[in-house]
Amino acid sequence: MRPFKYSRALNTTNAVRAVSGNKEARFLAGGTNLVDLMKEYVERPNEVVDITRLNLKQIRATSNGISIGALATNTETANHPLIRENYPLVSMAILAGASGQLRNMATNGGNLMQRTRCQYFYDLAMPCNKREPGSGCGALQGLNRIHAIFGYSDKCVATYPGDMANALYALDAVVRIAGRNGKERTIPIQDFHRLPGDTPEKDNNLEHGELIVAIELPKNNFAARSYYLKVRDRASYAFALVSVAAALEINGNSIRQARVVLGGVAHKPWRSLEAEKALVVKSATEETFRAAAEAAFKDAKPLAHNAYKVDLGQRAVVLALRQAFAAGAAQ
Ligand SMILES: Cc1cc2nc3c(=O)[nH]c(=O)nc-3n(C[C@H](O)[C@H](O)[C@H](O)COP(=O)(O)OP(=O)(O)OC[C@H]3O[C@@H](n4cnc5c(N)ncnc54)[C@H](O)[C@@H]3O)c2cc1C
Ligand code: SF4
Repeated sequence: MRPFKYSRALNTTNAVRAVSGNKEARFLAGGTNLVDLMKEYVERPNEVVDITRLNLKQIRATSNGISIGALATNTETANHPLIRENYPLVSMAILAGASGQLRNMATNGGNLMQRTRCQYFYDLAMPCNKREPGSGCGALQGLNRIHAIFGYSDKCVATYPGDMANALYALDAVVRIAGRNGKERTIPIQDFHRLPGDTPEKDNNLEHGELIVAIELPKNNFAARSYYLKVRDRASYAFALVSVAAALEINGNSIRQARVVLGGVAHKPWRSLEAEKALVVKSATEETFRAAAEAAFKDAKPLAHNAYKVDLGQRAVVLALRQAFAAGAAQ
């Protein structure tokens, strides 16, 4: 590992100042992604600012929902009674990720910021525009079984690998940020991650040095009837090939509101407005769920090795919607 300066931030202002003043500096939270990347020489910060002592761990009710601290661990968040009772989709998504030990260390802010699992991104011998802008994309003509089928560019076909963000997107979450000018700002979760375009080195719309302080989950009528389905190569300790965050508001047997967000298919969580349109004001039947699944993948553009994601994804959407519907019936 390259030598680097280590410091511990005692408050948010100092943390933001330290990182925003040095392009090569990085925040260190649970370290489960950053330290791995440093060991692989993919990330080479000359300064690491430890933020784990900041007072950003609370999970609390607000007038309009729940606020989750950026430094609450994934385990604390998934198991918190407020989250389990009001936003079970978030618990399910977190618990579908990584392993118990990793979730004990991983924080919510770090989870949103985790980087792609594209193999070429980790392999310094291969070209990768995300790691080294302008070098090319190894995956485009290479092995792209785990890569995107939506929203990619000729510069990058990677997917965002996280689970929690898919659930947050389905629930209209907002990310609260300590800005570089000392002011807080918010980014709706749908605008947090970004598509690769010509600048795949940028995973999201956070400016360098900006610090995630909390994630706000608003009250809504579809959070209770929800389900997170993740399909992967192994039952644990593996990233999604395809995942589905589904949430429904039901009136009688009719679907009043729906959310369908897909993971493992794009450079950001991929909300399917087409699937939602196929669901709303329809009866909650298998036929409707199948129509939504077809609509969700109608515009998919698979690469050489990942056409299987279309069929797999459609089946996953049907199953997730069925489970979401059943979850509400059980209450
Ligand atoms: C083997 C393995 C399997 C995994 N499987 C899954 C999985 O299935 N699903 C899944 O979702 N995840 C999975 N993960 C990823 C894991 O969830 C992330 O590594 C973890 O959530 C990152 O959180 P952290 O606190 O450790 O972040 P760190 O590693 O400390 O930081 C990650 C990045 O976020 C930045 N950062 C951290 N906190 C903030 C903040 N508050 N504001 C701004 N920037 C910040 C850091 O500077 C760094 O760039 C897996 C990880 C491993 C190692
Ligand atoms: S898909 Fe993106 S991350 Fe993977 S090699 Fe291409 S540019 Fe790099």
